[in-house]
Amino acid sequence: MATVIDVAMRDQLLDRRQRLETAVFVRDDETQLQHLLEEVDAALARMDVGTFGLCEVCQDPVEAERLMADPLVCVCLGCLSPKQKRALEEDLELGAQIQVGLLPCRDIKYDGWQASYHYEAASLVSGDYCDLMTAEDGSLYFMLGDVAGKGVAASLMMSQLHAMFRSLIPVGLPLERLVERASRIFCESTLPTHYATLVCGRADKTGAVEICNAGHLPPLFISKGEATLIEATGLPLGIFCNEQFTSARLQMRAGDTLFLFTDGLSESRDPLGEEYATERLRRLLCDQHTLAPGALIEASLRDLADFCAGTPKHDDLTAMALRRND
Ligand SMILES: [Zn+2]
Repeated sequence: MATVIDVAMRDQLLDRRQRLETAVFVRDDETQLQHLLEEVDAALARMDVGTFGLCEVCQDPVEAERLMADPLVCVCLGCLSPKQKRALEEDLELGAQIQVGLLPCRDIKYDGWQASYHYEAASLVSGDYCDLMTAEDGSLYFMLGDVAGKGVAASLMMSQLHAMFRSLIPVGLPLERLVERASRIFCESTLPTHYATLVCGRADKTGAVEICNAGHLPPLFISKGEATLIEATGLPLGIFCNEQFTSARLQMRAGDTLFLFTDGLSESRDPLGEEYATERLRRLLCDQHTLAPGALIEASLRDLADFCAGTPKHDDLTAMALRRND
């Protein structure tokens, strides 16, 4: 029985076949084209006999995302040759380097503000988004988000978020309009199943902060050892193309800190399967509220490591702290 995916795959293969056939007559490197054509025909033949999407070595289904990206794939990840595995690893390592290159300066001091962050991928690349950027009007923008899913697909979308905000912020839109526009572009350019939760904020030199929380875990606002949660006021980015967002405003004074994090922090588990949870984080941040951003993040990561006691991590983890110094 042909599934929707099979039909789409067949169309894609037939289209590829047609393009290759036309190319055979106009290109000189016929041997390579002939080889590609044979691969497409072999995939179509596998479709006819019902073995399409099954690994040629172990007969188990090939990973669906890989098949979607390349219908010619005929070996599952587990059955790749050492040479093929190495090539894949090198690709990923290069992707990871590019992703690290997108991150902002680790420690920032700017107009009475001090910011720091920690960024850690579950594997080589991360689906978390983290950025800090100053604008011409003197404000400091901070962004922290989490793309649905993990791995390469999520990291590609993370880089899209990065590029969008980097190019939209200089336009100088009000914060809510900025997030709305980003959401629309994101929605129009991603698969319907993909979305991202995000906190986008703007801090100015008077200590005023405006925050838009699009479906993300609430950032913690720590003032005089007391914490307030800044709850989400909108859906994640990219769910609907015409989403509207509202923002919250707060006035930060010397010693106040804003702490943002992804679920890699709050949903990490101990050996018994218990979640770390926002409540434990809240207590720690209140106790340690006098620490500078970098030290505060370190303290929270130490506490998390104590709690997890070696339980392997499964999710990307990002934390950011923004402190008002004067
Ligand atoms: Zn296999």
